Parts: sequence; structure tokens; C-alpha cells
Amino acid sequence: MPNRISTVALPPLRTYGDPILRRKAAPVGQITREVADFAAVMMDAMIEYDGVGLAAPQIGRSLRLVVINTALAKPGPAPLSPGEMLLNPRMPVVLINPEILSAGAETATVEEGCLSLPGIHGDVTRPQTIVLRARLLDGESIELPCAGMLARCAQHEIDHLDGIVFSDRLSDAGFAEVEPALKALEKQTRRDLKRHG
Ligand SMILES: [Zn+2]
Repeated sequence: MPNRISTVALPPLRTYGDPILRRKAAPVGQITREVADFAAVMMDAMIEYDGVGLAAPQIGRSLRLVVINTALAKPGPAPLSPGEMLLNPRMPVVLINPEILSAGAETATVEEGCLSLPGIHGDVTRPQTIVLRARLLDGESIELPCAGMLARCAQHEIDHLDGIVFSDRLSDAGFAEVEPALKALEKQTRRDLKRHG
């Protein structure tokens, strides 16, 4: 197992239908050793499950913590935004209590997927640029305009902290297309939850 940071077993991914994905996650207080250790588990899980981002509720903790790894994604239009310039070289990066302070008026529609909705994809319209505020693991506070995949991924992951998944943001037609798969996944998740308590 190459490049594992944490030493504990990876928690299972929570899937659509699990109530934790609908909960509003609690803010992180002090950046303790425990928080740093959990962030390491999140990074390992994101890599292991092959995502470009992961929010803590997706592996069972209702905490305002996300990890993002969009550095290798197709870059947006040059020049890179200040957020991409700062964060891309540091990825995968942990964002603590991330917030969107404002969003630009221009939107883009891009196909999204989610580790918690395996096999389901759909076009989601979101602002192309945001001003992101967060703390990093070393305690540094950032407040930066972000664009490209970073802006999109941050919006998707911050949604998770507010109990929102991307399928909530599909058009009516887009939702209708994935609804049977969502219903089936929800049923499976509920069945698994009952079985494992
Ligand atoms: Zn997701």
C-alpha cells in the first residue's frame, strides 16, 4: 500500500441514503492532534477511493473538514486564480471550516460525480468563481478568489458539510434521469445500515 499517511484502517464510505450525509456538520474548534490524525485518514481515503475531494461526513464524521486534490485536473483559463496558485502546489490540501464568502455571477455547467453516489453522474450548474475562506492544517487562514476545478470541487465539498449532495442541484430533467439509480442506492444503503447497526 504505497504512500499511506495514516496507520488506521480506512472507514467505509457513506453512501446516499445514509442520514449523516444530510446533517449539517459541526465546526472544527482547535486544530488538535486528533483533528490532524483524522485529516490524514481523510487524505488516505480520498486517494484509496480515487476521488478529487472528500468531506468528513462521507467517512462518518459530521465535522467541517474537507480534503481536495484538484492540482492534476485540467486547468481553468489562464491565469490561475490566487487560490489555485497558493493551493495547487500543496495538494492534496485539507481545508478546515471552509466557507464561501461570495460567488461570481458567471456560471458553468459541468458533469459531476461523487464517491457517495457511485456510478451516478449529472450536469451541475455552479458559479465559476468563489471567494474561499478556510484554515489550513498548520493554522494558516486563507481568504482567496478561486476558479477552475478548485472552485467547483470546493463548492461540491462544502455542500456536503451542509447536508447537500450534487443530485440536489440537478435540473428537473437531469434528476429524473438519475432518480431510479438514486432510489436503488438509497434502498441498498438503508438495508446495509440496518444490517450493521
Ligand atoms: Zn461528493
